[in-house]
Amino acid sequence: MKIAKCKINETNEINQINETNEINERNEMNEMNEIICGIDVGGTFIKAGAVRDGKILAQSSLPTPHSSEKDIMQSLIDIIKDFQIYKIEAVGIGFAGLVNSKKGIVYSSPNFPEIHNFNVVRKLKQKLNLPVFIHNDASLYTLGEAIFGAGKGKKYILGLTLGTGVGGGIIINKKIYGGINGFAGEIGHTTIDINGEKCGCGNTGCLEKYVAANAIINRAKKEIKEQNSKLRDIKEITPEIISHFANKGDRVAVKVIKETGKLLGVGIASLINVLNPEIVIIGGGIANAGETLFESIRKEVHKRSYLTKINKVEIVPAQLGSGAGILGAYQFVLEKMFKLELGIHNSQD
Ligand SMILES: [Zn+2]
Repeated sequence: MKIAKCKINETNEINQINETNEINERNEMNEMNEIICGIDVGGTFIKAGAVRDGKILAQSSLPTPHSSEKDIMQSLIDIIKDFQIYKIEAVGIGFAGLVNSKKGIVYSSPNFPEIHNFNVVRKLKQKLNLPVFIHNDASLYTLGEAIFGAGKGKKYILGLTLGTGVGGGIIINKKIYGGINGFAGEIGHTTIDINGEKCGCGNTGCLEKYVAANAIINRAKKEIKEQNSKLRDIKEITPEIISHFANKGDRVAVKVIKETGKLLGVGIASLINVLNPEIVIIGGGIANAGETLFESIRKEVHKRSYLTKINKVEIVPAQLGSGAGILGAYQFVLEKMFKLELGIHNSQD
């Protein structure tokens, strides 16, 4: 295939150079050392990195604007400009919400309620004159962990990211399984309580309502009203802080983490029954709670999942932190630009 080489000039505009390369084989691609800009648009920060050969050369971040599509577009352009010393060949973006990767459109996003049918790819391509690709952020996060992190060498991978919400991704043979629309992996919106709390997605009792950051924090606040805990001295409790105190043996923090693990285990057991994964990778602040959390998840999964009575499934913490989303975006761009034949399953284009 033909690849246009591009560079960013002094005025920060992108100029296209009339240079193309014929690339037919993956070996040739490996020798090209393309630098790709991977971007993860999160609820609080937009994080980006320049990536070559699966290594992040430089990183940058910006606070996420919570206003118009125009402001989000400007932030994306600004963060890409941070890498102008590199010859960026293409851009990959992870975006929370319902993303149609083939059309390059974000239909809706929990972080940006005002966004509807936001055609990110077309608009950014016009501005940059570079190839641009987009997918759901949690799918790219899982892809990053699958190729470069905790899932290295595994074929059937389920990933969860616990933050403001709960994202998920399914990787089969190094490719994202997206389903018919590319929306697969909305693990946070699987039901764990039919009479549960109302969720923003329209359902009630979604996993996200019990294991996302706010739910964990509220559980801790309720507990510290009744029991003594070091958490009482903390002004602003976060899942990371609860994890920290759980690791130090604080009884309330341990209780909250164990309860979170149990609830996660309920959701994960169902997913294991459906998908029969080789490994389940869990990331996000709460995943730092270590064995207290993971033992509780494994115990509940083993109790509930039909499959795990016969096949043990690895349930492990993510390894790459915020780098996973950036590296997943890089891997996705490589796959799309060079049509890597890595497996029999097609990801959602
Ligand atoms: Zn929901």
